[in-house]
Amino acid sequence: MTYTATAHTSELAHSILARLGVTTALDFQQGMSVRSPIDGSQLAQLRPHGSEEVKEAIARAHQAWQTWRTVPAPVRGELVRLLGQELRAEKHALGQLISLEAGKITSEGLGEVQEMIDICDFAVGLSRQLYGLTIASERPGHRMMETWHPLGVVGVITAFNFPMAVWAWNTALALVCGDAVVWKPSEKTPLSALACQAVFERAMARFQDGPAHLSQVLIGGREPGEILVDDARVALVSATGSTRMGREVGPRVARRFGRVLLELGGNNAVIVTPNADLDLAVRGIVFAAVGTAGQRCTSTRRLIVHRSISDQLVERLKQVYGRLRIGNPLQEGTLLGPLVDQAAFEAMQAALEAARAQGGRVTGGERVLQDEFPSAYYVRPAIVEMDRQTDTVRQETFAPILYVLRYEELSEALALQNDVPQGLSSAIFSNDLRETEAFLSASGSDCGIANVNIGTSGAEIGGAFGGDKETGGGRESGSDAWRAYMRRATNTINYSRELPLAQGVKFDL
Ligand code: NAD
Repeated sequence: MTYTATAHTSELAHSILARLGVTTALDFQQGMSVRSPIDGSQLAQLRPHGSEEVKEAIARAHQAWQTWRTVPAPVRGELVRLLGQELRAEKHALGQLISLEAGKITSEGLGEVQEMIDICDFAVGLSRQLYGLTIASERPGHRMMETWHPLGVVGVITAFNFPMAVWAWNTALALVCGDAVVWKPSEKTPLSALACQAVFERAMARFQDGPAHLSQVLIGGREPGEILVDDARVALVSATGSTRMGREVGPRVARRFGRVLLELGGNNAVIVTPNADLDLAVRGIVFAAVGTAGQRCTSTRRLIVHRSISDQLVERLKQVYGRLRIGNPLQEGTLLGPLVDQAAFEAMQAALEAARAQGGRVTGGERVLQDEFPSAYYVRPAIVEMDRQTDTVRQETFAPILYVLRYEELSEALALQNDVPQGLSSAIFSNDLRETEAFLSASGSDCGIANVNIGTSGAEIGGAFGGDKETGGGRESGSDAWRAYMRRATNTINYSRELPLAQGVKFDL
């Protein structure tokens, strides 16, 4: 079934969920309402899990972990290989569901599912590479090594804008690392979570030998998340969302000495120097600034452009912005779908109003298509030229607003780039080696992601993903991010007949 008219959003969602075998009741009266950003229609009403149910889920996960940790890692990898296969088989259905529930255009919905497949492939390889070090011992007849062991239950809390991929980033790694997962998805996108869980159950049925409850989903608002945060059986809380959420979650987990992995807000900038390929820059900036309607943590929110080329570049951006196809994200050719809800629209308007009051010159930003979609929020993306980096610019507004700042010297551009509380993603467009290397150097961008001649969004899964400062410091996905999901033991083995003490200490009995 493909999308034909707005009246069909709920029908299409239900047919996808039925196809995937989601058994949860979708029409619970007075439950949590799930709406499509496409037209505002209700897709389902779900019953939130109560606190006792959440605790029971944690207990089941804890039990599952105790068995799972003894299964050899390459065998655990086989489960993730099967999960990747099941995701491949349902790529189209899952991608459409992301569009229906989060409002992404078809290509981005499919891209998100591809990201899940990619991380499964990565994790399968990783299951044979959970390496520790061997370390030279100072004592004769001794050997030292480092071993990595499964950590326990991983509580995964996710945001609405990547309703499936962030679960997969965490779960594919957690499973090969020998952990069990309890997932609290965003209250705005629980259907995507139920769909992923159904696909996981298929992989589990084929795997046969694994313990039950390796992955579970909790439905609800922040309350089930808070229980995960406070429960000492949850060894790692991996939480993705706003800095406000991270500010609450971080200290609460720390209070019980749990581990936390925070992936929070960004305020990502692109620097464009006089040596840039402007054609490339325009394409890179537009995709990163308006893709997912500016609702990616890595969306470009600030353009820092050299004064000599600024008028030319801003004019070109305004022209492209003026002809972007805004509309139903499931329709072919649409580049810009809706904002997630009315609150997102109001936050965008409030930011534009504040920017105006601070001297900003605003182009675009108004609501469009309200006749066709009176209960949904489509906007023209905004370009806001600012004379200085004000408080409003320094905040993350989760909407397609691109603030333009002008600079004279590269050092000034770098200072502006870093002078925000967040530290997620950044990019420079330049063909001058001195400029690009300065940007990537220790005194350059302070972000977890720093790119050259590509935009700030659209990371590949092979690299570690995340950022510093108010972005929370966590790293997920590729590289050695797996270490967050395991505990490290240092082992010293004495194969001699003596008992020499370290540092030459004498203790003769
Ligand atoms: P949000 O903070 O409103 O919600 C995120 C999740 O946290 C939801 O599941 C919510 O129920 C839960 N939550 C909220 N308060 C909680 C609490 N006190 N205890 C436990 N759980 C709690 O975020 P959102 O609006 O869904 O998503 C947008 C935000 O997420 C943006 O700031 C964006 O930059 C950020 N984000 C960051 C990344 C990243 O990797 N850095 C990725 C995606 C989104």
